Amino acid sequence: MLNPGVQPVVDIGVKSKFRATILCGLLVAQLVTVLALVLVSGRITGAAETEHKDALLEQAAAETADRVRSHVEPVESIVEITAALASEPGVGAEEFQRTFSAALASTPQMAGVFVGRPDGGFVDVRRDGDGTRIKSIEIDDAGERTVTLRFYDERGILLRSEEDPTDTFDPRTRPWYQKAQAKRGQVAWTDPYVFFTSREPGITAAMTIMQNDQVAGVVAADIELGSLSSFLGSRTINNVGGTVIVNELGFVIAHPDPTLVQTEDANGTRTVSISELDDPFARAAVGSLVGVGGAGNGTHQFEVDGIGNARAAFRSVPVDQGGWTVGVFAPDGELVPGLASARSQERWLTIVVGILSVLLAGLMALSLTRPLGELETRASTDALTGLPNRRTSLEAADRAMDSGTTIGAAILDLDYFKLINDTYGHLVGDEVLVGVARRIQAAVRDGEAHVGRIGGEEFLVLFSETKEADAITVCERIIERIRSKSFATSVGLIDVTASIGLAVVDSGGTVSQLMARADASLLEAKQSGRDQLVLHREAGAMPADPESVAGPPGAHAESAEPSATEHIVRAE
Ligand code: GH3
Ligand code: MG
Ligand code: MG
Repeated sequence: MLNPGVQPVVDIGVKSKFRATILCGLLVAQLVTVLALVLVSGRITGAAETEHKDALLEQAAAETADRVRSHVEPVESIVEITAALASEPGVGAEEFQRTFSAALASTPQMAGVFVGRPDGGFVDVRRDGDGTRIKSIEIDDAGERTVTLRFYDERGILLRSEEDPTDTFDPRTRPWYQKAQAKRGQVAWTDPYVFFTSREPGITAAMTIMQNDQVAGVVAADIELGSLSSFLGSRTINNVGGTVIVNELGFVIAHPDPTLVQTEDANGTRTVSISELDDPFARAAVGSLVGVGGAGNGTHQFEVDGIGNARAAFRSVPVDQGGWTVGVFAPDGELVPGLASARSQERWLTIVVGILSVLLAGLMALSLTRPLGELETRASTDALTGLPNRRTSLEAADRAMDSGTTIGAAILDLDYFKLINDTYGHLVGDEVLVGVARRIQAAVRDGEAHVGRIGGEEFLVLFSETKEADAITVCERIIERIRSKSFATSVGLIDVTASIGLAVVDSGGTVSQLMARADASLLEAKQSGRDQLVLHREAGAMPADPESVAGPPGAHAESAEPSATEHIVRAE
């Protein structure tokens, strides 16, 4: 009967489109603001956190560098002062022994202090258990070597003295002797190596004794790496990460675990470089920095398998012309305890506050825009019946006309309505109008047509994409429903009838033309006795359904404008 899928001409549900737009706009603006705040605050917090972490690491590196400096400085001083004193002619083995013994007693980090001569002569004062061992190699004029070992207890009392003819030690072949030769006139530090006597890994500070621009010997002092490493072991930040010291060639000077600083291979024990160190975290933290003649000071971020993101601060130590580098490193997430959980708490708080603020903004916008919605409703709706008013109905007709489809307009006018007003009063008339509006709506199926009130007791039923025959059926149904049942009012039941003028156009034309034709049909219906439908069809146009024109009983045709139109009147 009806076109399946007919569209309503006007969707009354979107009458507050304007309000919905404002609501959406406000919500989106609020959402964007909250998101932007979250993003910006996250960035700021992140940057502050990074700064804080780096400051912690840098402070630890600086403190470690100071400790290292104060650890090696007395040893450097002893070497420097002794070398200067020995440049005076006539300083012999006895004097060296005395000076060295006193220096050893006052410098616990020093393992031994010694002097080597260009002729192979040697004096070495060294810790031996609680006491001291002094080794001297004397070369007589004939080139004969005498190697003497003397052992003293902690009070300096000679325990025993022995000669060791098997000893082949030659100071001139040792790393410290060569290093000092290469850097005449200044304290030079060796790379880490394994000491001849103790077999412990260590480093040696050495300086040439200059007499008349000639090297008259080398004074040197040993520090065992274990003594440097032991204080690193106690230096960690919040018990995570670690510290490592490397020299400019990348040899490990100190590591919290002293056993990692040396390794065994086919040639025996030797010290390791950072790239060989069995500590992947320390390797990643410092490994990339060495080999460039000291890393300078700074921080960097890196990744380690099994640990993830980590940070390190590195600092050049003023030892050996700043060739040493302290690296302090720690996993990023554990650097400041509680930070991760504080961050996640902050994130949740921000999300909750964000959601609340968006909800609040939504509620406020809802109440603030309510008057707008009401205004819009008032402007588009008839207050008495709640139907779309004349303006809205004609706009709907305009839109339907623009869509270029077949549209039909039916104008319904109540018969002798003035009489009802005159008899029962205006208010009762209103009650009837409301009842009529309800009945028209009920007679029109959902989406079948638009119903509006366009005048006092005049209604418009607008069909879009509806066949003429279907429009006729709907109009007849409306007339029938108004006529067949009295309207209940405050003064009792009132009967009323209605007349409808219907005009249908295929496409083209204007709304006012369509309305004028419907009006003409309405007039025709009134003149023909009221309580009936008159269809105005353009001359020449074929009825959509010929049966509906000729078929139903009581239908007859009239010609008000024979030249242009044909009127089909249906009556009771
Ligand atoms: P006809 O059959 O020719 O249409 O007769 P009629 O009396 O209905 O025609 P007329 O146009 O003379 O009267 C329409 C009346 O509708 C006049 C006016 O008092 C009444 N009317 C218009 N608007 C309202 C309204 O909002 N409420 C009430 N109660 N009456 C209204
Ligand atoms: Mg009227
Ligand atoms: Mg009337």
